[in-house]
Amino acid sequence: MTKIGIITCENGSILCAGLNCYRALSQLSGTFARYVDGIEIVGFTTCGGCPGHLAKKKAESMIKYGAAEKIHLGCCIMFRSHPHPDKFSLEELVTYCAQQHTKRTRLNPDSLAIETAKAIKDGRYPHVCFFKEKIKRDIEMLGVEVIEGTHARNAVDIKE
Ligand code: SF4
Ligand code: SF4
Repeated sequence: MTKIGIITCENGSILCAGLNCYRALSQLSGTFARYVDGIEIVGFTTCGGCPGHLAKKKAESMIKYGAAEKIHLGCCIMFRSHPHPDKFSLEELVTYCAQQHTKRTRLNPDSLAIETAKAIKDGRYPHVCFFKEKIKRDIEMLGVEVIEGTHARNAVDIKE
């Protein structure tokens, strides 16, 4: 039985209840397939929001009080599920971003959608959290293994 903690993206958590993570945990699938002797979950939380400074504190708490042996970073830290820039025009990306931002923010959603679409199109908006490497390094400094991902990659793009 391995004790694990899971840290996910605060931004993603606005709309995600973690269903795919919990499904993978109960089925021992995705990155949890390695735990053939079973898993005890000691914590499931978010990074606390950009730039993820609270991830280390939360991991520390899972290690100190829950004896976590491994920390998994959710797929929402590893992969963003926005459209691939080569397969969609800028106009299509603007439409997509406008739909997403209408759901997530009331802060000037039109101009935010245009700027985000431009960033996706020219590669400035990567398919990974900008702060992923720092989050990972910070947690590794606590002396635990950090595993990238949770559920199967193809589950990221379905409704969670
Ligand atoms: S990894 Fe997937 S299911 Fe888990 S919290 Fe993130 S988006 Fe939700
Ligand atoms: S730091 Fe990364 S994982 Fe955390 S909320 Fe921001 S984008 Fe999501």
